[in-house]
Amino acid sequence: MSRVLILGGTTEGRLLASACAGRPGVVTISSLAGRTSDPLIPAGELRIGGFGGVAGLVAYLRAERIDAVVDATHTFARRMTGHAVEACAAVGVPLLILRRPGWTEQPGDTWHRVPSIDAAAELLPGLGERIFLTTGRQEIAAFAHLDRLWFLARSVEPPEPPMPHRLEVLLDRGPFTVEGELSRLAEHRIDVLVTKDSGGAAAKLAAARARSIPVVLVDRPAPPPVPTVATVAEAVEWLRTAIDVPAGNGTPESRR
Ligand code: NAP
Repeated sequence: MSRVLILGGTTEGRLLASACAGRPGVVTISSLAGRTSDPLIPAGELRIGGFGGVAGLVAYLRAERIDAVVDATHTFARRMTGHAVEACAAVGVPLLILRRPGWTEQPGDTWHRVPSIDAAAELLPGLGERIFLTTGRQEIAAFAHLDRLWFLARSVEPPEPPMPHRLEVLLDRGPFTVEGELSRLAEHRIDVLVTKDSGGAAAKLAAARARSIPVVLVDRPAPPPVPTVATVAEAVEWLRTAIDVPAGNGTPESRR
């Protein structure tokens, strides 16, 4: 039986667990950080909470006899990814990164690409006054000092101080529709959208384009030098070669 650790917290992580579920010869253990109180539960086994740094992850990989790791964390979860790279190298466990591609500017877009959340905050006062923040609650503190701007911040869990003085919080979890995003922009008279370059469904970007609203887009961290794929199907294919996960008909090509 091959044991695959999926570092999750994303749609892709859940879809990969579902794609592996029921395949003979493989067990998936999805790992969530435990940031959300009501997480969407993936198929297969589940563990929740940090490992305790690189040393903790090394110990976990050994104790649980993990055969392969797929890092399907969010592109901006750079600490977890760094730990996975180090720990897998130390234990000699194959590691794949499953990451959806970033977004590409289209005609009609006015994008300002910035290297960090702090750079996004620095740029805002020159761009508008009513800001739609979709960077996640962990990033809201970077905007706390911008007293003259008004913010609508959308997140799954409530943010914690420090927060901007003029702030409305919208607790919501996607998927979102273009129509919904258009009404949100209109209702709150938004004049700038701030997002990380997360990739995937982009209703908010389509809505901003339609309303000619500028977007401040935080660039992704540099990808680590590890095999990387963009789709769940490619990840399943990688697992087939890395640890003999059977194809769809349940028959392994060979057995170790
Ligand atoms: P991070 O800064 O890279 O990680 C901080 C610490 O949280 C890690 O060192 C690890 O603790 C723990 N951790 C993170 N992901 C974990 C996982 N999947 N399983 C077990 N422990 C995990 O991570 P983050 O940006 O806070 O993201 C946390 C989770 O939210 C991730 O699962 C990520 O996929 C998801 N998420 C993040 C974003 C984002 O914008 N950053 C957006 C959507 C979803 P130890 O050192 O103790 O092991």
